[in-house]
Amino acid sequence: MHEMALVHQVVDTVLEQVRGTDVAEVTAVHLTIGVGRDVIEDYMSGLFSFVARGTAAEHAQLVIRRVPYTVRCNQCGEIFPINVRDSSTWVCPQCEAVKDYRLFSGMEFMIDSISVSRRPVTLSA
Ligand SMILES: [Zn+2]
Repeated sequence: MHEMALVHQVVDTVLEQVRGTDVAEVTAVHLTIGVGRDVIEDYMSGLFSFVARGTAAEHAQLVIRRVPYTVRCNQCGEIFPINVRDSSTWVCPQCEAVKDYRLFSGMEFMIDSISVSRRPVTLSA
């Protein structure tokens, strides 16, 4: 259940960002997750609510953006998407080099941004 460890990491990082600020509540957390990361999105949201219970991020909505696998050709530098299960996509469309590339995207796991609501400012007369 590695989602649990990832979610803990996200909640810790988010709370660290808002600690000591005038943030009243974290309303949304935007994540970028590569398709190579084997996570179940629906599962992540439930875990997030569970882990964040009792904190400023308790009601935050988890917004997940998935990034496809792309590779960079070692021969010509072309960046193109591949399907790991379909060998016909392992050929560079630019120079036709076969399976001569490095992974460019698809393994990301990062927090893009967080949305927050701030405490109302009390003006003293
Ligand atoms: Zn190429």
